[in-house]
Amino acid sequence: MKASQFFISTLKEAPADAEVVSHQLMTRAGMIKKLGAGIYSYMPLGLRVVRKIEAIVREEMNRAGAVELLMPVVQPAEFWQETGRWEAMGPELMRVKDRHDRDFIIQPTSEEVVTDIARQELRSYKQLPKNFYHIQTKFRDERRPRFGVMRSREFIMKDAYSFDRDMAAAKASYQVMAQAYRAIFDRFGLRYRAVAADSGAIGGDLSEEFQVIAATGEDAIVYSPDGDYAANMEKAEALAPAAPRKPASAPMTKTPTPGKATCAEVAELLQVPLNTTVKSLVLATDQVNERGEVVKSQVWLLLLRGDHDMNEIKVGKVPGLDAGFRFATVAEIVDHFGTKPGYLGPIGLKKPVKIVADREVAVMSDWVCGANEEDFHITGVNWGRDLPEADAVADLRNVVEGDLSPDGKGALAIERGIEVGHVFYLGTKYSKPMNATFLDETGKPQPMEMGCYGIGITRLPAAAIEQNHDERGIIWPDAIAPFTVVICPIGMDRSAEVKAAAEKLHDELLGAGVDVLLDDRGERPGAMFADWELIGVPHRVVISDRGLKEGQLEYQHRRDSAATKVPAAGVFEFIQ
Ligand code: ATP
Ligand code: MG
Ligand code: MG
Ligand code: MG
Repeated sequence: MKASQFFISTLKEAPADAEVVSHQLMTRAGMIKKLGAGIYSYMPLGLRVVRKIEAIVREEMNRAGAVELLMPVVQPAEFWQETGRWEAMGPELMRVKDRHDRDFIIQPTSEEVVTDIARQELRSYKQLPKNFYHIQTKFRDERRPRFGVMRSREFIMKDAYSFDRDMAAAKASYQVMAQAYRAIFDRFGLRYRAVAADSGAIGGDLSEEFQVIAATGEDAIVYSPDGDYAANMEKAEALAPAAPRKPASAPMTKTPTPGKATCAEVAELLQVPLNTTVKSLVLATDQVNERGEVVKSQVWLLLLRGDHDMNEIKVGKVPGLDAGFRFATVAEIVDHFGTKPGYLGPIGLKKPVKIVADREVAVMSDWVCGANEEDFHITGVNWGRDLPEADAVADLRNVVEGDLSPDGKGALAIERGIEVGHVFYLGTKYSKPMNATFLDETGKPQPMEMGCYGIGITRLPAAAIEQNHDERGIIWPDAIAPFTVVICPIGMDRSAEVKAAAEKLHDELLGAGVDVLLDDRGERPGAMFADWELIGVPHRVVISDRGLKEGQLEYQHRRDSAATKVPAAGVFEFIQ
């Protein structure tokens, strides 16, 4: 491939809305282009990465015995009514109407449609097991689309669905997929972990997420460095014994009033010295009905001091407004809100907040704050707009680093991950309501046992970048790089020797099946190198008159700090 025939369009600056490095770099490298909130075009360079990911997934799925088909993006509502998901799913399900006023959905996943196919096509035990998959566009109207293609609304997923005659066979199919996923993720060349995930009421232990390890990941994963235990935080929390309850001290008595608080006042309120770092701070929100009216006030300010036991959280009312304080345990708060740890509310400050003397903590108009009693809450509370916002899951956990691992092998560690795959045993959750049965050996109809298996095809490039980048740009693993090798000729327009050598190497690499790009755009060396470092092509070969005189080319891996001089034939050794 020649760069002049391809399409390369890089940017110096990242767009203002790009919060995470993968979103910034994918945009700057010209891999994606935003069309609307959570909706992106994959530009030629980005699409090459997506196609390489798809090819690996397809190869391993086929090898594992799954069969590819393609199901529709737009699906009639009646199938979703059959399983009850038309009612059960909230606004994340995109509903549309056709010209006859009939209801449709844009698929967020395809259990209904594949189960409909199975109930028509798989009639006998002799046709089982069967595993159907497709690689297809999904739409989820995410509450907060963000981070570019990491959490977009339109995205591409590989979703597979297994059909079996009984639970034992379904569990065997699940294990085949769990193994295939390991093969797939090994091939991507990313550091990842398979972790136990919550499977709801049905699955027992048969649900695992595949998490790409990255400090910026949205999920916390808990594992034992000395053993085999690994789970996502929700699962780990569900298994952990409830936090020890502590007796509540005197309840709050005073009614707070709106206003502003200085840090000094907050420090006094929290009974901490100035310059104390508050580990976590969460405001839980009111429950609001469709008309926007507050139906139940569930708003508290929770403060966890850095030097505290994780299980002990200060529950207060309004910062700086002399509300009373008492200690509460996580269990009490969970009881109070009737929710799981980690789901206390939509806003919190994940990063430590330093309470310093000269800073005023603004009480602004965004939040209702206080107790869930009438007249015990006020509106207009916030902690200054300069503070980072994060999900309330923050540090409200009863599983912490250093706890004994459930497998008894050493202490637990916690790291962050990005969910890129999910395998799940479904049982008869869809086959029963949709009456998807087969005839067993005795001619009796039996519900099919199912499993489902997803991979976030277009989330993967972003996850790969979160894990592999530096200050100059992306560093792709070979397997999913848009090009494996880039040839950068210097002065190709002036020097016939450079041109000939560049084209020769290009043709030889191509002939050897290497995905190579020849940069014949005629850019100056500095700009050319900066582009390829940003785009993150793993192998670069520079060809110049000076080098050719010595019979040498310059090879440099994207992770190398300097180039190595090699004879032309030597390039192959670095690449294969
Ligand atoms: P998340 O917890 O991140 O919302 P999920 O658990 O809702 O993901 P699944 O229903 O398990 O997602 O879908 C399978 C895979 O699809 C996920 O593991 C993820 O890689 C990908 N995926 C899900 N939602 C999105 C999205 N909004 N944008 C891009 N990829 C997504
Ligand atoms: Mg989701
Ligand atoms: Mg998830
Ligand atoms: Mg999932």
